[in-house]
Amino acid sequence: MKAVVCRGPGKVAVEQIDDPKPKSGEVKIRIAAVGVCHTDLNFTSGNVPVPFPIVLGHEGAGVVVEVGPEVRGIRVGDHVLCSIIGPCDACFQCLHDEPALCEGAPMFTGKMLDGTTRLSKAGEAIHTLHYQGSYAEYAVVPERFVTKIRDDAPLEIVCGLACGVSTGLGAAIHRAKVLPGSSAVVIGSGGVGLSTMMGARFRGATTVVAVDKLAHKAKKAVELGFATHAIDASSTDVVKAVQDLTAGRGADYGFDAVGVPGTLEQTIAATRPGATVVVIGRAMGSVELRVETSALLRHRTLTGTFGGSIHPRRHLPEFVELCMQGRLNLAGILDTRYSLDEAPRALDDLHHGRVTRGVIVL
Ligand SMILES: [Zn+2]
Ligand SMILES: [Zn+2]
Repeated sequence: MKAVVCRGPGKVAVEQIDDPKPKSGEVKIRIAAVGVCHTDLNFTSGNVPVPFPIVLGHEGAGVVVEVGPEVRGIRVGDHVLCSIIGPCDACFQCLHDEPALCEGAPMFTGKMLDGTTRLSKAGEAIHTLHYQGSYAEYAVVPERFVTKIRDDAPLEIVCGLACGVSTGLGAAIHRAKVLPGSSAVVIGSGGVGLSTMMGARFRGATTVVAVDKLAHKAKKAVELGFATHAIDASSTDVVKAVQDLTAGRGADYGFDAVGVPGTLEQTIAATRPGATVVVIGRAMGSVELRVETSALLRHRTLTGTFGGSIHPRRHLPEFVELCMQGRLNLAGILDTRYSLDEAPRALDDLHHGRVTRGVIVL
């Protein structure tokens, strides 16, 4: 099969590799669409170390073509979404209502749950990103990371729910639990930032401020109806501008959907005492934060989210349903389509800010 293989930082190419076979508890999916997520750049740049060679892609959607032994809830022919979260429903964190923090699936090992690799090329082992590796014609994925969705959902529109779109929606809906009539500031107006704004609007926020250093990105958030105001961070004092929009107080909710030095400090400074601040972005791997204790003594809650803090098998079908009812405009954030052969270019476009949200359609 054809797959996008990364053989080291900066080395991404489409290769012909062996067709994978699912083992116990795994399903084989014919990928129909896969989102191009900013996180992929952390692996291709080496910011977040993963073992090479590795098949990239972690926002896959497709149709199940084969199931391994012990697969109980997924059948051949099911339309499915993958997820970066695969709760075991049995570990300490899962039993404490933290499915996104499941202890039974270590991150970035490139291996499957049994500790072995599933992909190969003429005898050479190839790793799998996020138990998925969906920049490929087929992906073998543990059942825990796969959710059946309704057959009529357009896979190229909903595939982003596997990671980036759910991360943004979940940050606002499930992590911050944004209240009706409230105000929110979102630093970063890329795919995850737009999804966060969409989630905040869905929950009833009446002031949603989109911030970006690229003015056209923030403006687009307003044009799409996800934000009420746009701030060009390259030429504007962001904190003052947000205060001006919130009676001098600062926003009720702050979301840092970027994650470079300074953005979290800016997010906190743009919120009011008592606000909830959520860390979402991780554009540069780990970043240090300097925070004055008074910011937290004044009742701010500082938290973060992994993957939108969702339980995929519960929340993904809900998001899909809301999309099909026209209440979540998932199509609105998509701006560019690519073929699998164009995947290296898609990553380059994302890196250079030429696209907001791309999707590879097979
Ligand atoms: Zn678990
Ligand atoms: Zn992602």
